[in-house]
Amino acid sequence: MISNKKPVGVVPLGEVSEIVLKVVADHITRCFKLFTQILSPLEQPEYALDERRLQYNAGIIIEMFESMHFSDHDKIIAVLNQDLFIPIFTHVFGEARQGGKCGLVSLFRLAKNPDGSSPLRSLIHERAAKVALHELGHLFDLFHCEQKLCLMHFSGSIEELDEMSFHLCEYCSIYLQDKLR
Ligand SMILES: [Zn+2]
Ligand SMILES: [Zn+2]
Repeated sequence: MISNKKPVGVVPLGEVSEIVLKVVADHITRCFKLFTQILSPLEQPEYALDERRLQYNAGIIIEMFESMHFSDHDKIIAVLNQDLFIPIFTHVFGEARQGGKCGLVSLFRLAKNPDGSSPLRSLIHERAAKVALHELGHLFDLFHCEQKLCLMHFSGSIEELDEMSFHLCEYCSIYLQDKLR
């Protein structure tokens, strides 16, 4: 465990299932060896709602978070139920800026399988944890990775997300350890 670092804050935006928050926090601890802390909920980001798309603009939420002061946390993972987009994509599962402070995880698209069926709740939680780890990787300055199983592989679909493992490839892992030092 890397103990000299401030814990990663996991914060719900609006009403988010406590189990999801716990699973996300547990995976951050297990996979990245970082302490985590689940924070009190913040308001649903209505300021970021795009009236035409009826989706939430991830960039606007991140800008808001980057301007906020979190004295006890250097990195924040915010989890919300709303559907996120960035202008060049129809939707995103999550979003974070390279080396930034706050990453977002949207649960909106994770609760449906590609064939339209409903996944087990545990699978939804796993997907949320993968998105969270991926975005946290970006916050620690990791880039997208070519290796399909690596957590830093870009996944634009649920299939790709399910294919991904809970591990960083050797290269990304070394890069992260270097960043955490
Ligand atoms: Zn990414
Ligand atoms: Zn990798």
